[in-house]
Amino acid sequence: MLLTHAQGVSSSLEDAAALEIFLADVPTSDAVSSAPSELLLQRLQQFEAFRLPRVSATQILTDPVVPGPEAAAKYARQEAEIRKYYSGPLPPTGAMPHSPPICQFFFGYDVRKEAYKVLEQAAEKDKPVETSAPVPSPPEPVGQPLAEAPTAAPVEARPVQENTPVPQPPVIQTRTFAPVEQPTVDPMERRLAEMEKKLAEMERKLAVLMKVTVSTVEVTSTPPQIPPAFFDIVPSAISA
Ligand SMILES: Cc1cc2nc3c(=O)[nH]c(=O)nc-3n(C[C@H](O)[C@H](O)[C@H](O)COP(=O)(O)OP(=O)(O)OC[C@H]3O[C@@H](n4cnc5c(N)ncnc54)[C@H](O)[C@@H]3O)c2cc1C
Repeated sequence: MLLTHAQGVSSSLEDAAALEIFLADVPTSDAVSSAPSELLLQRLQQFEAFRLPRVSATQILTDPVVPGPEAAAKYARQEAEIRKYYSGPLPPTGAMPHSPPICQFFFGYDVRKEAYKVLEQAAEKDKPVETSAPVPSPPEPVGQPLAEAPTAAPVEARPVQENTPVPQPPVIQTRTFAPVEQPTVDPMERRLAEMEKKLAEMERKLAVLMKVTVSTVEVTSTPPQIPPAFFDIVPSAISA
C-alpha cells in the first residue's frame, strides 16, 4: 500500500481482525523455528484468498485520478483492473471522498462477520455427506420360482478376546463460532455520520454551483479626452 494510497491503515486493521479469527483454533508451536502445521498453512491460504479481493480493490480504488479530459478513461481502466480480483459492489465512478457510497465501501464493511462466514462455509464443505437415503430393496421375483438356493454353512462365531479395544468411529471435529456481536451505535459516531452526510451534500452542491468561467477581454488604454472632475464627487458618497 503506497503512501499515496489512502486506506492503507484501515486495510491493515482489517487484516489484523481477520487473522485473529482465521488463527483462533491453530495451536501455537513450541518454537519459532518449528515447521508450520498443516492447519496453519491451510488457514493462511484461506486468509489470503479472503483478503486479496478487497485489498486489491482498495489499492486500485484509492489510486488518485486527476480531474480532466483523461479522467473518464482512467476510471474505466481502474474498474477493469479491479474486476480482475473483486466482484463485489463498488461506489459509483467518480464518487467524491467522504460521500456516503465511499464511506459505505470503506467503513460499512464488517470484516469479522465476513471472516466467520468464510470459515463456516469451509467447515460446511468439509462435513461428510450423511447417508440417510433409504436402502433400495431387491426387486420382486418375476415368472417361475427359482430352485431353492443352497443354504450357506453357518459362520462360526469368533471367540471375543477380552480387553480387545472396540474400534470407534473417527471423531469429526466441527467448529462452532461465537455469534457475531452487533455493535451498538455510539451517539458520537451517529453524529459524525450525519455530519459527513451533510458535508458530502454540500460538496455535491458546491460542485454544481461553483462552476467558474474565465474569459478575457482585451483592453486598450486610451487617455480620457476630458480630465476627470474629481471635485464634482461629494465625499460622503465615496465613503458610502
Ligand atoms: C510515508 C507513508 C505515508 C502513509 N500515509 C498513509 C495515510 O495517510 N493513510 C493510510 O491509510 N495509510 C498510509 N500509509 C500506508 C500505511 O502506513 C500502511 O498501509 C500500513 O502501515 C500497513 O500496515 P501493516 O501493519 O500491514 O504493515 P507495516 O506497518 O509495514 O508493519 C509491518 C511490521 O512488521 C515488521 N517486520 C517486518 N519483517 C519482520 C520480521 N521478519 N520479523 C519481525 N517483524 C518484522 C516491520 O518492522 C513493521 O513494524 C502510508 C505509508 C507510508 C510509507
